[in-house]
Amino acid sequence: MPTHHPDDSLLLEYAAGSLGEAKALLVATHLALCPACRNAVRSGEAAGAALAFANETPETVSSPMPDVSGEVVEAPPAPSAVPAGLALPQPLRGYLGSPVAALPWSSVGLGLREYRLPEFKSTTAVRLLAIPAGRRMPRHTHEGEELTLVLQGSFSDVTGDYQRGDVATADGRIEHQPQAGAGEECLCLAVEDAPLRLTGVTGAVLTAAARARTLFGR
Ligand SMILES: [Zn+2]
Repeated sequence: MPTHHPDDSLLLEYAAGSLGEAKALLVATHLALCPACRNAVRSGEAAGAALAFANETPETVSSPMPDVSGEVVEAPPAPSAVPAGLALPQPLRGYLGSPVAALPWSSVGLGLREYRLPEFKSTTAVRLLAIPAGRRMPRHTHEGEELTLVLQGSFSDVTGDYQRGDVATADGRIEHQPQAGAGEECLCLAVEDAPLRLTGVTGAVLTAAARARTLFGR
């Protein structure tokens, strides 16, 4: 059972159908792993529908029974639970289209691998990140907000320990160096509003390498 959940504001926006696709994908994947948030979103949907109902009732209406047969506010359905033993929950599995091992992973240094979901090429980066067991990521902070959902294994940083289903929220106020748990590769889904900013020495080297790759067209 996950112990780190998305912020209430994210769940509310998700329930209202106003969350962007990238974060909605992450929240929906968390919901597939988290009964508590599924219930919260269901009641959020109920509350949202009640609110919409109240707002749509004109004050001058004389009938005590307003017509409710018309427009219904459509909220995205809360996904159902993941069957036991299944590696990746929906809707993420549908976005990937092939098994995790068959994806065209890129090496990003220090044994870390990433797969960027091609549907999200603009301002928001959505990627799968694979961190070898026990490995530390470069120390970094963020320009915007980063949400990280653990799909397999675990990681920990200054903000806590994150297991399968847990969501970590980081932004410019947090400088961290996540470390994967021992024994199993850590697989995460990460959604970033803006590129992360590497702060350590290793970070500087990786940033330079990334710049060189851009410079030389790969
Ligand atoms: Zn949750």
